[in-house]
Amino acid sequence: MASLVFVTGGVVSSLGKGLSAAALAAILESRGLKVTLVKLDPYLNVDPGTMSPFQHGEVYVTDDGAETDLDLGHYERFVRTRMGQVNNCTTGRIYSNVIAKERRGDYLGATVQVIPHVTDEIKNWVVRAAEGYDVAMIEIGGTVGDIESLPFLEAIRQLGVEYGRKAMFMHLTLVPFLRAANEIKTKPTQHSVKELRSIGIQPDVLLCRSEIELSEAERSKISLFTNVPCKAVITALDARNSIYDIPTMLFDEGLDDIVIERLGLEDKATAANLDDWKSVVDRTINTTHEVTVGMVGKYVEHHDAYKSLTEAITHGGLRHRIRVNIRRIESDDLADNDLSSLEGVDAILVPGGFGERGFEGKVNAIRHARENEIPYLGICYGMQAAAVEFARNVCGLENANTTEVDPETPDRVIGLITEWLDASGKVEQRDEESDLGGTMRLGGQECRLREGSLTRELYGREIIIERHRHRYEFNNHYRDIFQKNGMVLAGLSMDEMLVEIIEIADHPWFIACQFHPEFTSSPRDGHPLFTGFIEAALRYQEGELPQGVAQL
Ligand code: GLN
Repeated sequence: MASLVFVTGGVVSSLGKGLSAAALAAILESRGLKVTLVKLDPYLNVDPGTMSPFQHGEVYVTDDGAETDLDLGHYERFVRTRMGQVNNCTTGRIYSNVIAKERRGDYLGATVQVIPHVTDEIKNWVVRAAEGYDVAMIEIGGTVGDIESLPFLEAIRQLGVEYGRKAMFMHLTLVPFLRAANEIKTKPTQHSVKELRSIGIQPDVLLCRSEIELSEAERSKISLFTNVPCKAVITALDARNSIYDIPTMLFDEGLDDIVIERLGLEDKATAANLDDWKSVVDRTINTTHEVTVGMVGKYVEHHDAYKSLTEAITHGGLRHRIRVNIRRIESDDLADNDLSSLEGVDAILVPGGFGERGFEGKVNAIRHARENEIPYLGICYGMQAAAVEFARNVCGLENANTTEVDPETPDRVIGLITEWLDASGKVEQRDEESDLGGTMRLGGQECRLREGSLTRELYGREIIIERHRHRYEFNNHYRDIFQKNGMVLAGLSMDEMLVEIIEIADHPWFIACQFHPEFTSSPRDGHPLFTGFIEAALRYQEGELPQGVAQL
């Protein structure tokens, strides 16, 4: 039976529950334990797939095709365990399961209620996700005291009783420092724990987010008011240099020992080895080079909207100790072809995106990268925009477009498969009422890399698996004309039906892929495309980018 560590938060949101849970999981993993993480989200969306990146940050995609909360991205960057559908569950999902069961008659005529039916559904989900692991960390989204999270808290309270010594509760709070009074305030923490205890949950560990280290006296005061042993009242300072410092910081506070002791896992656990994390942090701080990547997108000012991407770009510099500055450029600003904001960048990246707005600006940025031999990495929409740019400005198909932007284009080089499969070119009726949730090509899929391509050289193997999240595809009717004009189809789906990666043969570094490599990048391993891209940026800066790496 797995041990369960429940992670809740109080006082304010954005305390970094996800990062703290992931960092603790990283220490436990380094101590030889099999660890998984689960995020329970209290909102009514069935999954975050339909939520705007402006509001909720990026939609993270797992190998098994789940559209999840971005915390799962943190989890995968901190531990080796891979996440999937089972690792993220929302109130919407729970209710839709309960209602489906009710309609099927599974409850045999009972009155269906929050307790026990909804709470049982939550408990079953957690137990299923934890199966096969030594420790499962269960993070509850939101803040204690919210109406929405009550069923989740009641469910974990019950699990706490059922699991006894094999379950524990870790609560994050804010301990503010009042500059005017020159002291820290423990009252919000006391109140937050009181709230938690009023619903029957006694925390075992408090992670106190604070700007300054709590003194022994302050910790014992919190301990007295909250019934949490003093040594389990832990200061969680802001990460010093990098979020990848958090495992070492929590280890220094002795958090892993408290957890292992509390759960009785001493016999199973080995000594911690955090060398990997120390090396990641060392490479982040002690850099010897610096490059600037221009990231041209639509939500660039919303940092959470590109969480995995900015992480992956940074990871790309770690191997060679390259500090990567990301210049965020609103694609709309490039729409009238004023490219001054791209001046001085060492590489250009166009990430995934949706909709018409900002598309022409992306096309302009890509043209600039292609014509000036600036390293270019296009991801998903950034690949589709690269195909449109190439069609218009190299193949001479002036009005080429993606049907997402112009459904009437004469050359729909990118379109829904249904729009181009029919050789007559007839645009099929689009169902405007279609259910937007879960209608995309999603999750990990195999792709075969072409011998002699730059991508193949970077990955160092023929078959790769990468994650998708999109509706539109490269139109196969244009393969010939693209290839004749110097485009390399560097990656195809295993059945050769779908174009996954394009390169430009006589450009020193131009790769665009239909999938999202940022979801599989980790600080410890990096990702071949991002590492290659950042190294190309450095070579470009130093003026030694070799010409024409891609052949054919
Ligand atoms: N909007 C494009 C599509 O649906 C690209 C999606 C993306 O970049 N994730 O195909």
